[in-house]
Amino acid sequence: MRAAVVTGFDKPLEIQELPVPEPEPYQVLVRIEASGLCHTDIHAAHGDWPVKPSLPFTPGHEGVGVIEKIGSAVTGREVGERVAIPWLGSACGTCEYCVSGRENLCESQQNTGYALDGGHAEYAVAHAGYVVPVPQSVSPVEAAPLTCAGVTTYKAVKVSGLRPSERAAIFGIGGLGHLAQQYAQIFGAQTIAVDVTEDKLRLARELGAAHTVNAATGDPVAEIKALGGVDVAVVLAANPRVLEQAHACLRRGGRLVLVSLPKDNAMSAFGRTTPCATTAGAGSSR
Ligand SMILES: [Zn+2]
Ligand SMILES: [Zn+2]
Repeated sequence: MRAAVVTGFDKPLEIQELPVPEPEPYQVLVRIEASGLCHTDIHAAHGDWPVKPSLPFTPGHEGVGVIEKIGSAVTGREVGERVAIPWLGSACGTCEYCVSGRENLCESQQNTGYALDGGHAEYAVAHAGYVVPVPQSVSPVEAAPLTCAGVTTYKAVKVSGLRPSERAAIFGIGGLGHLAQQYAQIFGAQTIAVDVTEDKLRLARELGAAHTVNAATGDPVAEIKALGGVDVAVVLAANPRVLEQAHACLRRGGRLVLVSLPKDNAMSAFGRTTPCATTAGAGSSR
């Protein structure tokens, strides 16, 4: 099979011919149909993060494909089933985080396309308990980004406690933000999209945003406050200034969810006095 392999943190991806992997007892072998590219893949390939992947490795944690083989101990998955292979490749299943439904915080988790070879290949093996069925009615290409950008933003909206009739502002309408906006609307909220690019705001309007604010030409705080503020702000821009703006847009009892974190994790915006009583929650998502 062909695979896109990282052979060095200062080298481009190399297309290599590799043997098709054999599934271990708890794994499935998936013939990949689509594999999304996430910025995390680029961080992985460059070795940007403190815990680096072992070389060589195949990135990709948005892989979708069809199960071709199942390991001897696998139950509940079938050959021919379409599944997604997400970032959370496996977790210990027994720690405090795992048993409370927060496997994404497990300190023993193994991540696809990082500690485990990922989906940027014609085949990948994955732990059967961590692959997710993909309905036939959803195309693999459309399903792929939902396994990272999708779960990240779904979780952000979920932890915000957003309720029908509330209003949510989404700061940053990119690959993640346009999904956060749609989830917020599915939760029953009215959405306000904030970005600095007119194209992205046009997309947000097409997707049903009630209001859009161009932060390059206008003041999102003034514009959102004029609308009465928001109950929830979800931030997808890694810029301390945006954090501050999002915080300042909240109504009383508002909730701020940070998907992106500013460089150096400095959140000085919270040190200042603001007129609104708020709670802040960082949403580590996947
Ligand atoms: Zn990702
Ligand atoms: Zn665990």
